[in-house]
This record gives sequence, structure tokens and C-alpha cells, in this order.
Amino acid sequence: MKEFDYIIIGGGCAGLSLAYELEINNKLKDKTLAIIELRTEYKRDKTWSFWKVVPHNFEDCVKKSWKNFTINIPKKTNHLECLNYPYQSVDSGLFYEKVNNKLRENNNISFYKSINEINTKNSFIFNSVPSIKEDHLNLWQHFCGVEIETQNNFFDDEIFNLMDFDCDQRESIHFFYTLPFSKTKALVETTWLSKMNDDSQKDYDYQIKEYLENHLKIKKYQITYKEEGAIPLFYPIYQIENNKINIGTAGGMTRLSTGYTFLNIQEHSKYICENIGNISKTKKFEINKKYQFLDSVFLRVLEKHPEKMPGIFFKMFMSPPDTVIKFLSNKSNFFEDLSIISKMPKKTFIKALFK
Ligand SMILES: Cc1cc2nc3c(=O)[nH]c(=O)nc-3n(C[C@H](O)[C@H](O)[C@H](O)COP(=O)(O)OP(=O)(O)OC[C@H]3O[C@@H](n4cnc5c(N)ncnc54)[C@H](O)[C@@H]3O)c2cc1C
Repeated sequence: MKEFDYIIIGGGCAGLSLAYELEINNKLKDKTLAIIELRTEYKRDKTWSFWKVVPHNFEDCVKKSWKNFTINIPKKTNHLECLNYPYQSVDSGLFYEKVNNKLRENNNISFYKSINEINTKNSFIFNSVPSIKEDHLNLWQHFCGVEIETQNNFFDDEIFNLMDFDCDQRESIHFFYTLPFSKTKALVETTWLSKMNDDSQKDYDYQIKEYLENHLKIKKYQITYKEEGAIPLFYPIYQIENNKINIGTAGGMTRLSTGYTFLNIQEHSKYICENIGNISKTKKFEINKKYQFLDSVFLRVLEKHPEKMPGIFFKMFMSPPDTVIKFLSNKSNFFEDLSIISKMPKKTFIKALFK
């Protein structure tokens, strides 16, 4: 069986981002790479959005970028600007096409469906397949989004809605998220932060229909695309092995309080690429411990007091938008952290600190 210098398990966002980073930095000129991916064809399946706080390789896959957004709770809307850190949406279809076209140019890169097809004994492995299943013990961000096209101009495509909590909460945390790509086209997502104890929150189609028709009052529209998913709001457990690094969701690249992962994956890929020559001895890349700690407290409050969360998220955005964006994107300094923490209900958070 064939041997490779590097193996990437899972050719999704993290696996392909890493392979692309290595390829464009000429790290695969005299090294071989095998990518193991189950899927038989690549098509758009996710819309990766984030505040652009650092440069990345996929500007040409950005579907739309915004400099204004809103967040709202019943009867209150906050209008915010993100001029310094525009919010970008990457179309996964364009991403897969761009990366796969580039990787196919290099004969040192091979694609396989199963790890059993190759010899792994002397390879360094990057694994993006987490060994977790949806369960009811942990918190998840689970959601369903549809892209719709309206008959008439309806959306203001200069401004997106990050969180609309003016909806049925069902004793949990629920919001809608709307990304208007044009005046007639938008991705509208119903999102839950919960333990998924049962399927009672998964009537996504009903929730979206109700929101579009009775809340936004859009009568004539067509659904042109749908995506559904669940992001673990906990770190997958894995065994530490000398010849293996976990990447992507499997490698703890998700910011647990928000589910944002895409830009962390890009930063991790750059880090691995810079250190590839000595990768087995390189310090593990992780989301700063400060955020891991603050997020764990935040999630404890979220679990205990779901009814308080719409107000807490709304208040968080009373800080200057750049401060909140930097905080949520792992780029804040001590004073910016303090500004965010000062907006949180003190008693509730102090109690959560000691639980
Ligand atoms: C629908 C959706 C929308 C999201 N939106 C955002 C967003 O807006 N912003 C953001 O920052 N994050 C977002 N995320 C979170 C995160 O960015 C994505 O989940 C991202 O795709 C994670 O990359 P990954 O490589 O870890 O996992 P994936 O992209 O899922 O890649 C894993 C790959 O492994 C393959 N695979 C699985 N099992 C095996 C196996 N046994 N052998 C070989 N291959 C296997 C899969 O087919 C897949 O291609 C979203 C997640 C989902 C699910």
C-alpha cells in the first residue's frame, strides 16, 4: 500500500483549508499528501460567516460583505456598524471548487475514500473527523437555514440581522439570523442553543415558514437552497498522539460561546504551515485559555438561565461594536474584555463562576 508524508482525514473546511495553505506556500513540492474524504461530490452545503478580523485566502469565495447589522429583542432593536471588521459570508460551493481545482494541479496530492486504502505507519496525520455524536448531555448550536428569493424587492441588503430574539423561545434560547444577499435574496436561519433533549425544537420548516410569513410578512417567495447543522458547544475529547494533530471542529477550533469556527481554522492552518518542518514538536495551537474560561462561565449561565440570554446578548452589544467583535473573534485586549464583562449581570455570572 502507498505511503505518504502527510495524511489529512476529512476534506471539509479544515482539511481543505490546510491542504490549500500548504500548497500555496510550496510545502508540497517534495512531500506527498493523501486526503481522505467520504463524500463522492462537493456541492454548496454551508455558508461560513464571520467578522473579518484577520486576512484569509478566500476573499474570492465571499458571497457578500456587510458593514452594518442589527440585533433585537421584543420591542428593541440595536443598529450597529462594523466598518473596521466587515462581516463576510463565504459560499462553501465556491470554496470547494477553488481549493479542489488548485490541489488537483499537484501530482504529490492524492485523494482516497478510506484510510484503509493507504499505509499510515510513517505518516503525520491531521484529523478533522471528530468522534462525537449528537447527544442530550451537551450543549449544541443547532440550526436550519433557507435561502429564499422574493418576487419583489424586500430586503435592505446593506444590513444583516445577527440575532432576532423576537420569536418563540420554548424555555430555551432561540433566534433568527438573516443575511440579505440582495434586495430579493436572503439566507434566513432558525437557531437554537440547547441540549437537544428531544426533537421538539427541530420543526425547523414550520419555524421558518412562520417567521417569513407571519413575522417578516413575506407572502411570495421561493426556497432555493437549504442547510442544516449542529455545532458542538464543547470540545471533542481525543487521545494525544505524537504523529497526529486534530484540526477543525475536532481540533477545538470552535469558539464555544458563538459557534464561530471558520477564521480559527484559517489561523490554525497558517500556524501548521509555518511550523510544518518541525510539526511533531510544535506547541499545540488553541483558542486562548482566557476565552475558554470566559466561555465556560458564559455557557453555565446560558444553561441555567436561558430566559436571561436574549437580554444578555443584547446588552453585550451595548459596548462599542469593535470591542464586541474583537471579543467574539478572540482578538480583544484586557480592557476590551473588561468592557464586555462589565455589561454582564454580576450576580448571575459570579454564581456561575463557583458552580
Ligand atoms: C451548516 C453549518 C453552518 C456553519 N456556519 C458557520 C459560520 O457561519 N461561521 C463559522 O465560523 N462556522 C460555521 N460553522 C461551523 C464550522 O465552521 C463548520 O462546521 C466547518 O465546516 C468545520 O470544519 P471541519 O473541517 O471541522 O468539518 P467539516 O467541514 O464538516 O469537514 C469534515 C469532513 O470530514 C468528512 N468525513 C466525515 N467522516 C469521515 C470519515 N470517516 N472519513 C473521511 N472523511 C470523513 C466529511 O464528509 C467532511 O467533508 C457551520 C457549521 C455548519 C454545520
